[in-house]
Amino acid sequence: GSVFGHVAQAPEDPILGVTVAYNKDPSPVKVNLGVGAYRTEEGKPLVLNVVRRAEQLLLNDPNRIKEYLPITGLAEFNKLSAKLIFGQDSPAIQENRVTTVQCLSGTGSLRVGAEFLAKHYHKKSCFQHTIYIPLPTWGNHPKVFTIAGLTVKTYRYYDPATRGLNFQGLLEDLSAAPSGAIVLLHACAHNPTGVDPTLDQWEHIRQLMRSKGLLPFFDSAYQGFASGSLDADAQPVRLFVADGGELLAAQSYAKNMGLYGERVGALSIVCKTRDVAVRVESQLKLVIRPMYSNPPIHGASIVATILRDREMYGGWTIELKAMADRIISMRTQLHEALLARGTPGDWSHIIKQIGMFTFTGLNTDQVAFMTKEYHIYMTSDGRISMAGLSSRTVPHLADAIHAAVT
Ligand code: PMP
Repeated sequence: GSVFGHVAQAPEDPILGVTVAYNKDPSPVKVNLGVGAYRTEEGKPLVLNVVRRAEQLLLNDPNRIKEYLPITGLAEFNKLSAKLIFGQDSPAIQENRVTTVQCLSGTGSLRVGAEFLAKHYHKKSCFQHTIYIPLPTWGNHPKVFTIAGLTVKTYRYYDPATRGLNFQGLLEDLSAAPSGAIVLLHACAHNPTGVDPTLDQWEHIRQLMRSKGLLPFFDSAYQGFASGSLDADAQPVRLFVADGGELLAAQSYAKNMGLYGERVGALSIVCKTRDVAVRVESQLKLVIRPMYSNPPIHGASIVATILRDREMYGGWTIELKAMADRIISMRTQLHEALLARGTPGDWSHIIKQIGMFTFTGLNTDQVAFMTKEYHIYMTSDGRISMAGLSSRTVPHLADAIHAAVT
């Protein structure tokens, strides 16, 4: 018998499992709105032109080598990534009190940050190892933080009645959180709800968190995808950096540069002083070294090639805006298609929500019905990836939603 004979069959991942089921479905009308990956109007994955150009440059560079990167990754990539999220003229960067390490996309950045916190975040209060995450949030958050050694609690975020932000509930829960607790904040384009606080609300949240000594941990997986502007989408993070306080930020280039499988991202920790930042970085290296030694070189080289060159950077912002605009146009088209069908209910949240996803408000049974009868695949919480839609598939989705609610 096998020494692994006792191993039980694990369930599929709730998000990636949707694609597994989709792949098995032979129907020609099937649509995958599960995973958050951008598709063109033709339903195809997209490699940005600027990425292809950067790869060509790398390929033609005779000096290019495949040596190990340092534990902290490509230094130039780290510098440019910090400037991308905190701003070109960020005082925190100029004062050298930011440490940035290249990590394995957004997930890896969250994991490294969380393990660092579990090991080194000590305040007098005994709650320093608790992280508050929004309810709901990306399904991987609680798993990443728990396995890294943090205790996970939730704060109210989404209000099903308005399909908008439960701002009052959020403020109450953060007010009630013990001083010193960590708070996970989606920098923009909240996943799965598509609901973001306004800048005024962010300012309110900032004041509350700073007055209570709550430590912000920003997850920035969609910079540029919400509004189409990299700077506008980074405003909430920059608001918190501007007050001189400390924070963590996990960045992903999966969506905004379409580098999903290259696994390229960064963790930045903004510290009070340069001296603290140096010591924090030395400990980040001790977290990373036994985990995967050092990060891969190719994706980070692509990003650095684009970010360092004014012309390529400009090309990237245009392609990024085009992706964001196509998603916004899918929102309009789906909303209009439901209005045209006279589908009962208020569907204005489809055009009010922002980023890659719409949190439809459809329940588990309605989702199951749409998958069974219409071959539409989505997560059971009713989240649909707007980036997976096209003008061709909108009518089919609208028919399915209409049938599900009537
Ligand atoms: N955070 C959020 C909120 C996300 O939606 C995602 C991607 N689905 C990630 C982090 C991490 O993605 P990746 O590891 O591919 O960068």
